[in-house]
Amino acid sequence: MRVLGIEGTAWCASAALYDAETDSVLIESDPYEPDSGGIHPREAAEHMSEAIPEVVDRVLTAAEAEHGPDAVDAVAFSRGPGLGPCLRIVGTAARALAGTLGVPLVGVNHMVAHLEIGRHRSGFDNPVCLNASGANAHLLGYHDGRYRVLGETMDAGVGNAIDKFTRHVGWSHPGGPKVESAAAEFAETGSGESGADSVADLLDLPYVVKGMDFSFSGISSAANDAADDGVPVEEICFSLQEHVFAMLAEVSERALSLTGADELVLGGGVAQNDRLREMLAAMCEVRGADFHAPEPRFLRDNAGMIAVLGAKMAAAGDTVEISESAVDPSFRPDQVPVTWRSGESV
Ligand code: ATP
Repeated sequence: MRVLGIEGTAWCASAALYDAETDSVLIESDPYEPDSGGIHPREAAEHMSEAIPEVVDRVLTAAEAEHGPDAVDAVAFSRGPGLGPCLRIVGTAARALAGTLGVPLVGVNHMVAHLEIGRHRSGFDNPVCLNASGANAHLLGYHDGRYRVLGETMDAGVGNAIDKFTRHVGWSHPGGPKVESAAAEFAETGSGESGADSVADLLDLPYVVKGMDFSFSGISSAANDAADDGVPVEEICFSLQEHVFAMLAEVSERALSLTGADELVLGGGVAQNDRLREMLAAMCEVRGADFHAPEPRFLRDNAGMIAVLGAKMAAAGDTVEISESAVDPSFRPDQVPVTWRSGESV
């Protein structure tokens, strides 16, 4: 089966072809980069309306060149969560394409796709999943036909919390990679000459974990205040990362412990951060658990993960009629009946 996936929940207009027979994924993406500030929903939607037809055309042309006119067996699209104006453009494109090609339509939950791509690439059986993305942050575990939300942010998504600080100090979007570089620089040199000591050089920032839930709004504001007080920005970046990622590592460990799982997969754009992966890998090693983060092209928003999960759903007969295929900006992962794992015992 070959599935054409379309992604466009916020900033990344992307199309992909997944070939289940060869397990290969072709991805074409065109990111929206705001001139200033964060993501503006109207500008992002304008970007989608221009970029989605182009990335779809590139993938479809390549697919038909290789496989002929029947190259696509189903069209999958990100149905939510995300920005309504962007989702509606993606939904319209996917419906039109499925109709034109005469193939079934599959509506994919973007957060479950972030998780499933890690399970798919790792071959893990029943992992706990930490989704560390821009607009979201949550821990998911599978039980009785659904991915259950074991813990989640009580306010901002992890990437958005970091980007809020970088906007405050005047850095362009996205801020996460810039914070990673600045933090790494500080870790090399520290406030003195001998390099940062991860405890002694930490600023005192809010660390808020309640069970398996957590909060980032306080830490973004405290980081902004520290910048206003003249604390060097590299020092703030270092402490911001250490605090935020330690919160994520703590709740991930608690989820592994309470579920008895011995596999952790990481998903979402923030998962591209080396320090986050290092901390989670170290925690898993101590517990004797396996850890996997897919390669970067599957971590940031991308249509590859939509096409891969779309193929699993289509194979399970989990397609959607065009009349029932409305997008859902608040689509939660635990609303999704997990049809493609129905043969599994867990
Ligand atoms: P969601 O998937 O929840 O809809 P999103 O659409 O914002 O979120 P993602 O691609 O998952 O998209 O994540 C984007 C976020 O990842 C941005 O906030 C960005 O700053 C952050 N990010 C990207 N690279 C890094 C990095 N190296 N370190 C930390 N954060 C990063």
